[in-house]
Amino acid sequence: MGDDYIPFHRPSIGPEERAAVDSVLAHGWLTTGPATQDFERAFAGYVGVEHAVAVNSATAALHLAMNGLGVRGGSEVIVPTFTFAASAEVVLYQGARPVLVDVDDRTLNISASAVEEAISPATAAVEVVHIAGHPADLPAISAAMSRGSGREGVGLPPIVEDAAHALPTRISALDGRFAGTVGSAGAYSFYATKTITTGEGGMLATNDASLADHARQMRLHGISRDGWSRYAESGSWFYEIEAAGFKYNLTDLAAALGLVQLARVELLWQSRADLASMYLERLRDLATNGRLTLPPQGTGREHAWHLFIVRLQPEVTGETDASLPGVAALPAALQPLATRRARAITTMKAAGVGASVHFIPLHLHPLYRRMGSRPGDLPVAERAYAGAISLPLWPGMTERHVDRVTDALRRALA
Ligand SMILES: *Cc1c(COP(=O)(O)O)cnc(C)c1O
Repeated sequence: MGDDYIPFHRPSIGPEERAAVDSVLAHGWLTTGPATQDFERAFAGYVGVEHAVAVNSATAALHLAMNGLGVRGGSEVIVPTFTFAASAEVVLYQGARPVLVDVDDRTLNISASAVEEAISPATAAVEVVHIAGHPADLPAISAAMSRGSGREGVGLPPIVEDAAHALPTRISALDGRFAGTVGSAGAYSFYATKTITTGEGGMLATNDASLADHARQMRLHGISRDGWSRYAESGSWFYEIEAAGFKYNLTDLAAALGLVQLARVELLWQSRADLASMYLERLRDLATNGRLTLPPQGTGREHAWHLFIVRLQPEVTGETDASLPGVAALPAALQPLATRRARAITTMKAAGVGASVHFIPLHLHPLYRRMGSRPGDLPVAERAYAGAISLPLWPGMTERHVDRVTDALRRALA
């Protein structure tokens, strides 16, 4: 892969990020401390929540939310199948059962009618993932939860937002509120490929003071005070262990990086939104003539554009090659489509374009197969997955890059 290779993702790191990390190194307090506190305050202010708790991944934020919201053995959490591993494994960490449900064909977000069917007295939480940065329909999901059966007298379970893709996603139907701030808790990711990055990192956002306090304690061993309040000049050595907590705290090195990235979040978003518009424009004819399904646009500033997922039309018939990645686990009817998709990605790669696939539905993975799920169970997600290709989308890509990606895609579909 030469200089000409267009990678699937490249983080946008500049001199300000380097200077910020350098100043933490020079200051000498490397783990959770003043930079983390500044990052939390800035983040809470930006998205508009009372409490932001910095952690070392979105997975940790989701786990702390499940832990703090009372998800336990014997309870269930409704999770869309079309998502990353983290969304459901945090439910298993708590000894609870993820109930995997299907998604909406247009947005690939959790289906409100599937939530209505799956909700029961055992439901301890409903998790919503804003796929690619396009907001899930939270008002429709809340309404579906109320219509769902068997909750008389127990009230509705909390909504946990997996907002790993959704910074900054502003929900038009909710007066521009940020995705991740509407449910009881929201989890943001600063993993290397996400819309802002700290290398690894995450944030729990909530307006629930007791959930935030719980998360602050549990992110650092369940002890009563963090290292900064013990080792700083004004601190005291004493602490008490209140619970068996976790090691989920964010370092100041990462937080310093995060502060600079957060200050650039709107610019980074604008750049991704511009690239997405170029893709939509250049690929419009393929959608019109039925070759490709393009992602939903959202209105105004509604889409964070973390991912740009196109889908080959599902009517593909013909040859199946079960040795290609992602083919064998699908129902036979989808295997020709998945074969075509795998070949398209190989062709694009040979043309110097790094494409990827989001997501392999959770219920097709061995872990969830062993728990009883089967190919064919959640057909919308399966069909979407079989034809899905994620195109490169990162700030710093040029119009020429976009042209090369769309040319490579056209040739791969020919
Ligand atoms: C990336 C991602 C996560 C996990 O984020 P980490 O910060 O890597 O833990 C969770 N959910 C979704 C949908 C993701 O894409």
